[in-house]
Amino acid sequence: LQSKQPHIGTTIFTVMSKLANDHGALNLSQGFPNFECSPKLIELVEKYLRKGMNQYAPLSGIQPLREIIAQKTSDLYGISYHPDQEVTIVSGATEALYAAITAVVQTGDEVILLEPNYDSYEPAVRLNGGIPVYVTLTPENNYQIDWNVVKAKITEKTKLILLNTPHNPTGTVMSKDDLEQLAAIVKDTNIFIVSDEVYEHIIFDGHNHWSPIRHPELQKRTFVCGSFGKTFHVTGWKVGYCLAPQQLSEEFRKVHQWLAFSTVTPIQYALAEFLQEPDNYLSVSQFYQEKRDKFIACIQGSRFEWIPASGSFFQCVNYANITDENDLALAQRLTKEIGVASIPVSVFYHQKNDYKILRFCFAKDDQTLEIAGERLSKL
Ligand code: PMP
Ligand code: GLN
Repeated sequence: LQSKQPHIGTTIFTVMSKLANDHGALNLSQGFPNFECSPKLIELVEKYLRKGMNQYAPLSGIQPLREIIAQKTSDLYGISYHPDQEVTIVSGATEALYAAITAVVQTGDEVILLEPNYDSYEPAVRLNGGIPVYVTLTPENNYQIDWNVVKAKITEKTKLILLNTPHNPTGTVMSKDDLEQLAAIVKDTNIFIVSDEVYEHIIFDGHNHWSPIRHPELQKRTFVCGSFGKTFHVTGWKVGYCLAPQQLSEEFRKVHQWLAFSTVTPIQYALAEFLQEPDNYLSVSQFYQEKRDKFIACIQGSRFEWIPASGSFFQCVNYANITDENDLALAQRLTKEIGVASIPVSVFYHQKNDYKILRFCFAKDDQTLEIAGERLSKL
């Protein structure tokens, strides 16, 4: 077989988690919690498994889950999505992203990616014949988006802009002003937006979640991709959703029906019931803000430098005071030599660069964060 994607290797998350396991290192690389989800959520899954909710769910997802997602979106942001036509339950945000990109991107279309970006975006664009066009965000200005640069990259072929707030890997969040600047750029164009919001409920220091759907000019062209994996500490469940206006949702569902058709039924019922209690998701930001603060306290004595993450469960640190090594080499060495695994941020750019930044996942129990902090502080 001649590889269709010869340049694609194994994701950095798999590579670093394996290295961490092989060396018995603390795994602060791949983003997943090392603690359990709410026992109530487990009980609910058990309840629906025993109730016999074990056959195919409808293509669009079960009604109560679509309804509560629409309700939550309306309560939080005042925006209405019709649960039957505009909310679709899928197998994780990765599927939502792939289906949304596939729904709109045709051969030769240009897609704007703001790098560093989550690693599934580019392959999804390319597999659909799209051409990634990069806008580079840099640590020097804490990864803020220069919308003049975005504007300059727009051509007649631009079909889609991919956004991610709160942002993986950098932990930054978009502001209301970002939305206004973007709206001015896309007004009078047919450009779509895919907004990756898997960390919607992990946002700190009183920041607001500025989803593009909160701007009418953007809402009508946006596919929101969400996931319950992060919010409820269950990354292995792979249940996510897409919110999009009716016509966009129709196209989205045409792809979803051939990708997965539907997703795991008893878990959908459990999530629908768990979401009835708003505190179950509204409390998550506070929980992770404490984790972020704990991790930062644990590396306070180190020679790393950082700007505290505003959202997500990742903290990026600059290690230029410590070594000249490139970030991949350092991440591998720290895993083997001091037993702490991280993610080198340069892998989220399309070209090699020499930014000296590592990403640490702080979704870990306090003891793990303390031991990691002790080890990192000796560097
Ligand atoms: N987008 C971002 C930014 C992520 O960090 C992740 C993490 N896994 C995903 C999408 C994928 O989410 P899921 O596991 O629900 O497919
Ligand atoms: N989203 C997770 C991260 O950024 C990893 C997901 C995966 O392993 N595919 O670490």
